[in-house]
Amino acid sequence: MKKQIENNLLFLCYNFIGDIMYDVIVIGSGPAGLICARELFLSGFRVLILEKNDVVGKKLSITGGGRCNLFNYKEKSELVEKIHNGEFLRYGFVKYNSAFFWNYFSSVGLKKEERDRVFPISNKSKDVIDFLRDNVEIELNSNVASIEKNESFSVFTEKEKYQSKYVVIATGGLSYPQLGSDGAGYDFAKSFGHSIVNTYPALSPLKTEKHDLAGITVEGGVFSCDKKTFGSILFTHDGLSGPAVYDISAYVGDFVFIDFLVDMDEKLFLEKVTRYSQKKMISSFMKEFIPNRIVDEVFLRNKIFDKKIAEISKKDRAFLFESFKSFKLMVKSKDIDRSIVTGGGICLDEICADTMESRKVDNLYFVGEILDLHGPTGGYNIMISLLTGILASKSIEKKSKLC
Ligand SMILES: Cc1cc2nc3c(=O)[nH]c(=O)nc-3n(C[C@H](O)[C@H](O)[C@H](O)COP(=O)(O)OP(=O)(O)OC[C@H]3O[C@@H](n4cnc5c(N)ncnc54)[C@H](O)[C@@H]3O)c2cc1C
Repeated sequence: MKKQIENNLLFLCYNFIGDIMYDVIVIGSGPAGLICARELFLSGFRVLILEKNDVVGKKLSITGGGRCNLFNYKEKSELVEKIHNGEFLRYGFVKYNSAFFWNYFSSVGLKKEERDRVFPISNKSKDVIDFLRDNVEIELNSNVASIEKNESFSVFTEKEKYQSKYVVIATGGLSYPQLGSDGAGYDFAKSFGHSIVNTYPALSPLKTEKHDLAGITVEGGVFSCDKKTFGSILFTHDGLSGPAVYDISAYVGDFVFIDFLVDMDEKLFLEKVTRYSQKKMISSFMKEFIPNRIVDEVFLRNKIFDKKIAEISKKDRAFLFESFKSFKLMVKSKDIDRSIVTGGGICLDEICADTMESRKVDNLYFVGEILDLHGPTGGYNIMISLLTGILASKSIEKKSKLC
């Protein structure tokens, strides 16, 4: 309450000058913008979030299927290794690691699920949004059109001009533009002389050649171009989706291969075939551990004729294994609109790793997915936003004390 009164008094002073003046303007109410603004608000700054949507944290609200996989509880070195350009975040993770975030959100109530994924106990992303937005002032329906810098920053929406000493750009990437992130932030960055590393769909479903498996989900492996990922694979009407597919999507070449037998090497497979009733058909054997429709499709595509096991040669058994170990599909395209995360973004050479401040423009910050950082599924991407958002807030606090 005391902080709010202080903030309001500050606002009245500023209003005598004429324009709407803030200490900090944050553009975008995703996790990066929200945590940055929350921290600054709690430290007594007059901070405003400008958000083009009519609700706060629209994308955040649908993350993790509405459950919000908030971050990943891995050790710093593993986080750094799993995140694209993760080395850039090493300094940040020293101070703001998984234990820090676990504490930070303790009043929301968190739980860990498999693969160290952290969710709110309630399974409701809304609880995370309510916590992060706190009492922060947020102007909804405020689409920022341009930003200028003279003595201070002038931020223009279609209706208003706002002024502030610091600006934090937290406008997200290009994915799911219907939720607000349409790449406007890259234009703001360019207008300040920043370069953008080419953007691409980083965690996206794949459009592939036609298959007859729509609606089936399996646990398996996906590989392409020396990369292999594991997890759920969903066959869609036009290709593939699911965490294992998202995680490889940034690296796929012209073909993708699915491993339906991740727990088996050839030796074990052949042993199992030998131990199975030799009078039974080979399709019955495969259907013991792989969904029927997948077995039929693999047989059809690889021209495998169903026979009694006893009649199958050693060479054909090896071919059978190979067919289920690397089921091949041609990749037609990836789709940035349906991509969970955007790869590429603001070139990290131009950003201070310990503060997220621009190396080109004083008091200008970039946080979250707009940066050339992205991680696999598992909470890494919101974690990137939280970490970079908090680093920016701490830097602004520190700089203000020095002034
Ligand atoms: C379906 C889906 C599920 C996901 N699930 C997970 C998950 O469970 N765990 C995980 O770690 N990651 C998940 N992600 C990724 C994660 O949501 C993003 O990486 C994260 O939200 C990025 O945060 P951000 O704050 O940088 O940007 P965003 O969350 O994209 O927020 C940017 C905000 O800026 C606003 N904005 C943009 N331009 C302007 C402008 N000109 N003026 C004013 N406002 C503007 C936008 O409206 C938006 O609200 C998921 C993504 C999707 C699409």
